[in-house]
Amino acid sequence: MFKLSLLSSSSLHLLSLSKKLALPNFTRKIFCSISTTMSINFQPHAFAGNPLRSKTPKPSDPFSPTQAYETLKTQLLDNPHLLSSSPSFKVLPFRKGRPLASTSVGIGDSTLNWHLGWISLADCKGFLANSGVQLSGDSLVYLGSRPEEDVVYWAIDVSKEDSVVPELGSKQLCFVELRTLMVATDWADARAMGELAIAGHARALLEWHSMSLFCGHCGEKTVPKEAGRRKQCSSELCKKRVYPRVDPVVIMLVIDRENDRALLSRQFRFVPRMWSCLAGFIEPGESLEEAVKRETWEETGIEVEEVVYHSSQPWPVGPSSMPCQLMVGFFAYAKSLEINVDKEELEDAQWHSREDVKRALTFAEYKKAQKTAAEKVDQMCKGVEKGQNFSADFNVESGELAPMFIPGPFAIAHHLISSWVYQDASDTVGARPKQPCGSTSNL
Ligand SMILES: [Zn+2]
Repeated sequence: MFKLSLLSSSSLHLLSLSKKLALPNFTRKIFCSISTTMSINFQPHAFAGNPLRSKTPKPSDPFSPTQAYETLKTQLLDNPHLLSSSPSFKVLPFRKGRPLASTSVGIGDSTLNWHLGWISLADCKGFLANSGVQLSGDSLVYLGSRPEEDVVYWAIDVSKEDSVVPELGSKQLCFVELRTLMVATDWADARAMGELAIAGHARALLEWHSMSLFCGHCGEKTVPKEAGRRKQCSSELCKKRVYPRVDPVVIMLVIDRENDRALLSRQFRFVPRMWSCLAGFIEPGESLEEAVKRETWEETGIEVEEVVYHSSQPWPVGPSSMPCQLMVGFFAYAKSLEINVDKEELEDAQWHSREDVKRALTFAEYKKAQKTAAEKVDQMCKGVEKGQNFSADFNVESGELAPMFIPGPFAIAHHLISSWVYQDASDTVGARPKQPCGSTSNL
């Protein structure tokens, strides 16, 4: 009931947007199918809609974490090459937060596609054996399975095994920054969006494993449980359970209804001329709405009266100390307009007219930036390009310089801003039904 309620309102909203935005047929088709079938497979944001997590198998199911882990241990004891078991296993290696990837050229055109570099359990065992490491079941973290396949997927961190890099490189597989893959992902390609979501989930789990080696309560070592889906203190006296970490962040587009303007800001780390939404971490004992109001006030001196939920996005590409942020997006309507920027937090914040922001959206070459990033991944997998410059990936411009631009479709900020830009000026909350602050139907 909750899911239907959520999707029905957002699908109507997006359907309306798709007409105004003249989105590609593919995207529009998805919107239309949702409006009639209430499909739960809609992927509005990068890193959401992980296809390996659409259903959680029951504990007795051979694809469940517990059962799959038992089968995995059996396979690791024997030669996996000699066993024909069900389910089979595929492993995604990570190195320093970077998933293994490869590229291919699309059939019938020259489109470059990136793919996750899944390897078999036998190959994983072999690569590690060549580094003098014996693969154990506890090194592998369960990612899930697809209902239509006889496969269970796992991730492994091979950051300490240097010899795997040239070995995999000889097969045109390389470890690529997740941010680079994010920019290289074609937003209209459901397969690529699904792979990005899998990589994001896997990175979040592995980063959390690497930073929760010891119990925060008694200091003893922690051990993986439930195929790596949680951990537990190894002390018999303590046995504290530890769960993967999620850090919620509010991100808001502050709107001046009266003058039809939105507040955009610049952080010091942004590439030149990029403007985006305000954002900030939620503090303990605070509601989402309170966090939106407090952060807006602290960073810009603007008071907000109404807060309306828009959508949320997992964000596993932050620092490794925060393995997965959850960006919770809002429209926030201002009741005071004078800006007083906190220079410790922000470089600048300014009101921008709808026309100016629309121009920035139109000018930016998001598709070109995506193709450039995909070419970069291809060059890296072929061993041509070694360096990985994240900030350059965010630069969506080429040629003539625009006064400003906003982040690409991989970021929730893009969707908050474009939702506001393309909604009717007379309708302050767009096509969404207006929800009062704190309503449970959308949360
Ligand atoms: Zn403990």
